[in-house]
Amino acid sequence: MPSVEIVAIGTELLLGQLVDTNTPHIASSLAAAGLDVYATHAAGDNRERIAAAMRAALQRADGVITSGGLGPTVDDLTKEAACDALGVQLEMHEPSLAAMKERFASLGFEMRENNVKQALMPRGAFVLPNPHGSAPGYIAVGRDGKFIASMPGVPREMKPMLADSVIPWLRQRFVLGAAIYTRILHTAGIAESEIDHRIDDLFRAMENPKIGVLAHDFRCDVKIMAKAQSQEEAQRLIAPVEHEIVKRLGGHIYGVDDLTLPGAVHVLLQRMHHTVAVAESCTGGRVAAALTSVPGSSQSFLGGVVAYDNSVKTRTLGVREQTLQRFGAVSEETALEMARGVRERLGTDYGISTTGVAGPSGGTPEKPVGLVWFAVCGNGVEKTLQRTMPPGDRDSIQARATVAALTLLWKQLSR
Ligand code: ATP
Ligand code: MG
Repeated sequence: MPSVEIVAIGTELLLGQLVDTNTPHIASSLAAAGLDVYATHAAGDNRERIAAAMRAALQRADGVITSGGLGPTVDDLTKEAACDALGVQLEMHEPSLAAMKERFASLGFEMRENNVKQALMPRGAFVLPNPHGSAPGYIAVGRDGKFIASMPGVPREMKPMLADSVIPWLRQRFVLGAAIYTRILHTAGIAESEIDHRIDDLFRAMENPKIGVLAHDFRCDVKIMAKAQSQEEAQRLIAPVEHEIVKRLGGHIYGVDDLTLPGAVHVLLQRMHHTVAVAESCTGGRVAAALTSVPGSSQSFLGGVVAYDNSVKTRTLGVREQTLQRFGAVSEETALEMARGVRERLGTDYGISTTGVAGPSGGTPEKPVGLVWFAVCGNGVEKTLQRTMPPGDRDSIQARATVAALTLLWKQLSR
């Protein structure tokens, strides 16, 4: 298998001012494509040190992949360093210069002298177009056949260049090893330990595909990872294992791969031509935000009320004063009246509610921080749920409560 090392370029990375997200993205994409990633590095905006990192990497691996430092400013030095490392000169790449002129003209910007620098390329390099920005990337190959592939630092520009130019080039040049194909089964409403218990034997026995469980806030993913030469072969390896896991986890899988939990809720609502409204206290609108994150959600999500103060619970949602007095705002009864109220007043098929103690203060022995009541009603069924979120800050309690609310709704819809 061909091997590579990755160098992330930028002084901000070394000062701890910027979190390097490019390296993990590049590393996982290359590994998935069947390359060995030997090492990853970061280098500041310093020509000698970038060149030294490239030279050292090229002694060990077949190529170096870099991100950052391709821009027009004086601290963008990746190309100069690559030339030093490979022993070639920079020269003007006319097609890139022409493309850049056109891009600036179409945006109505004036092109500056330093922009011209972005069209300078190591002599003989294979230039990679950048449809999302001004700095093109390149792949330069040395006399020994080892290569340096450089991409811009901006993730939005780097990711498509990696997928559309760099990886296809690598596939053409090398016989890549088996690639890793992943199938993700998303679960909700089942604990990691329970999943582990149910599929433990598969975990142990399977070599290819391998199985992994990844826990998120109040939900888990089961990953099936196959090493294969092609998508078809991977599918053949994955299918029987997926079938077995689905059998064992049954009703807890809400979707696969890119489907999100709110996305799964939307799919079910749309299938039944049903709508939902939300009444939120402790989640402060996060359930509504999650539901509206799905494209096309206007067909199934009508709206919501953030009923934070009791006066909003009573006046806007019709929760009874005596319910609040007798049971408190954080109670099964209040949650239920909130869900009924929002369903009725917004005229939807389903209503869902959250009310809880998000903390850090406001907890009591009977109602500790993290206690949340949920209710869902619709289609002739009413259901409530009480969860005590594990200790955490407000943000994590709200995030978990949001997942729990969506899970309750999804369970109700998928019955
Ligand atoms: P530009 O043409 O914008 O100058 P560039 O290729 O020179 O692009 P840099 O100047 O190194 O790239 O970085 C530009 C921006 O891209 C940084 O300010 C940062 O927001 C983002 N960026 C750069 N490197 C990384 C990285 N490793 N991880 C995440 N973001 C990054
Ligand atoms: Mg820059």
